[in-house]
Amino acid sequence: MATSFYPPQRILMGPGPSDISPRVLAALARPTIGHLDPLFIQLMDEIKALLQYAFQTSNELTLPVSAPGSAGMEACFVNLVSPGDTVVVCSNGVFGGRMKENVERCGATAVMVEDAWGEPVSVDKAAAALAAHPEASVLAFVHAETSTGVASDAAALCALAREHGALSIVDTVTSLGGIEVKVDDWGADAVYSGSQKCLSCVPGISPVTFSPRAVDHIQQRKHKVQSWFLDMQLVMGYWGGAAKRAYHHTAPVNNLYALHESLVMLEEEGLENAFARHLRNHRALVAGLEAMGLSMAVEAPHRLPQLNAVTIPEGVDDAAVRSALLEEFSLEIGAGLGALAGKTWRIGLMGYASNARNVGTCITALEAVLGRQGAPIKLGAGLPAARALLAD
Ligand SMILES: *Cc1c(COP(=O)(O)O)cnc(C)c1O
Repeated sequence: MATSFYPPQRILMGPGPSDISPRVLAALARPTIGHLDPLFIQLMDEIKALLQYAFQTSNELTLPVSAPGSAGMEACFVNLVSPGDTVVVCSNGVFGGRMKENVERCGATAVMVEDAWGEPVSVDKAAAALAAHPEASVLAFVHAETSTGVASDAAALCALAREHGALSIVDTVTSLGGIEVKVDDWGADAVYSGSQKCLSCVPGISPVTFSPRAVDHIQQRKHKVQSWFLDMQLVMGYWGGAAKRAYHHTAPVNNLYALHESLVMLEEEGLENAFARHLRNHRALVAGLEAMGLSMAVEAPHRLPQLNAVTIPEGVDDAAVRSALLEEFSLEIGAGLGALAGKTWRIGLMGYASNARNVGTCITALEAVLGRQGAPIKLGAGLPAARALLAD
């Protein structure tokens, strides 16, 4: 007979999910109420307002899609793209490649702007692609590439889309809550995120926001959105403004308690303080790793504070290190993906997991495991270097 499942208490320093606050986990266990209960509708309105705060937007159409980040991505594409359209897709890692898949499944043509993994999206190349394709109606890119730990210039790319009369689709799954995501200042049109990265909530929810321009485009489209579940015209009837809410699907009630709690925590801390915390812990981690003799895989100006790509030293057994960290320290870090598999580790400092204790634990644990493997590291140098940047 099967018995209850009791997971261990891990330290989640991979590419997501990240550690979850006990406050958020407790919210998850509160009594379920009906998804059309007047109190739940009030909660939905508050979640919308909190998401507007997190996205720094006044977009009316801002809501959590009841599915993971990949569904938020799909929601943006299926609503903005119609068969026969041309979309310029910037790709510098795993998630740009998924955008291409989405475009093609919408019956549209993807014009790819490729940059090397580990480099940011080239604004000049994106400009050249838009100039060469005046028919392009959308420019899509990933703000924070989790597969490589690289940030791209979202403000410049969104401005570029506007100049060309195209809409922008922006992946902020890993950026939201960790670094600036300024939807209104950027003039971004369709932006999606995820609950389990820097928002430190349970996986399975995808916050999205659409500009008034994007909403006009959706309302004027002639071709029915091919996804019933993700059709924003229908979802708006459920999450929409003053009008009476109509049943569309059953919202994941308890998951939304959790999302609400994590957003309340973000608002209590304040966006600026959350960004400063992510930066401080990132700098301390980098100082510690470099003092140990390890090197970062991404050039300093493009690094994401919440996702640190570290070069694996020659001769070190990647998988053995990660499994020793997990078994002996209950610490999860991420493997490299695609071309970077076996070459980099991805150390997350996302949301609730971005704290001084995790920085210290990670450096200490890596030192122990690498030292045992005979890797060329300086024993005892990492922790003091990190702590010097954490003390104040
Ligand atoms: C994690 C991630 C996604 C996908 O989110 P899921 O919740 O796993 O579906 C998309 N884009 C980026 C940049 C991500 O980091």
